[in-house]
Amino acid sequence: MTSEFRKVTVLGTGVLGSQIAFQAAFHGSDVTSYDIDDKAITAARARFDDLAKVYQQDVDGADASNTTATAHGITLTTDLAAAAADADLIIEAVPEVLDIKRDLYRKLGDLAPERTVFATNSSTLLPSDMVDYTGRPDKFLALHFANHVWQFNTAEVMGTDRTDPAVFQAVVAFAKDIGMVPIELHKEKAGYVLNSLLVPFLNSGIELAAGGYAEPAAVDETWRIATGAPMGPFQILDIVGLTTPYNILINGNDAHKKLAAWLKENYIDKGKLGAATGEGFYRYTA
Ligand code: NAD
Repeated sequence: MTSEFRKVTVLGTGVLGSQIAFQAAFHGSDVTSYDIDDKAITAARARFDDLAKVYQQDVDGADASNTTATAHGITLTTDLAAAAADADLIIEAVPEVLDIKRDLYRKLGDLAPERTVFATNSSTLLPSDMVDYTGRPDKFLALHFANHVWQFNTAEVMGTDRTDPAVFQAVVAFAKDIGMVPIELHKEKAGYVLNSLLVPFLNSGIELAAGGYAEPAAVDETWRIATGAPMGPFQILDIVGLTTPYNILINGNDAHKKLAAWLKENYIDKGKLGAATGEGFYRYTA
């Protein structure tokens, strides 16, 4: 590991926080994971044990011994001061609620040493929304992972206009060190690169089916055959799960709200939530 960030603290041990902590620890970082209570910490232990099994299946070089060591090597705590005290880098993956994030940064700004860099994994908020609460605008940016970090290993790096370029590059180097492919954004953009492309693409697919122009399977088939891509929009939606796109659409403009209603009536209300539930636009067997 060449990165200047050896001691890494991850805030939040949910879906993404647990994956980020495990990925960093697996690649040699000294990782501390923080969550709010003992219940969350117990759940985190189970998540790390599950990730150990997933890595054994999916990741080259992962075996029972090194993944178990990874899971057991992550320090878990509910003490924010202890989690922040000696961290080189703090990656925040707490709920996507602005007030929760701001409140946490306000506390962290006082608790963490001056040298500590803060990175948010937020998907839909901009680092500018939080920067004023960090007490270190030059050492704050977004480092955005995708769900299943070991497999879909992009790490989008996006600063504000106050982020120190040297800090930005140090975070890029860290991302590489923990097995990610860093994607550098030159300025802030809601949705980063991936979701700026993906969300309109998925919405266009839904528009075709909801408008009665073509069946989901025909839309997917067109995209696969004509572009050589492995999956069409509805195959991707089934993997993402239909709840997230529904939540995005229902908060959009009138046209988007209509698409949300179509998703709800035809799929969500019928329990067809995507691959994880056995059925979405397609049926899945275990
Ligand atoms: P999650 O709900 O699975 O996990 C959130 C965790 O934060 C929980 O363990 C919760 O106990 C903890 N938490 C709640 N309040 C806290 C506080 N004040 N301090 C510390 N921890 C607290 O959420 P998630 O899906 O892991 O998302 C976390 C962040 O990652 C969000 O900003 C989200 O936008 C982003 N993200 C999510 C995905 C995804 O696919 N789920 C992908 C990329 C980025």
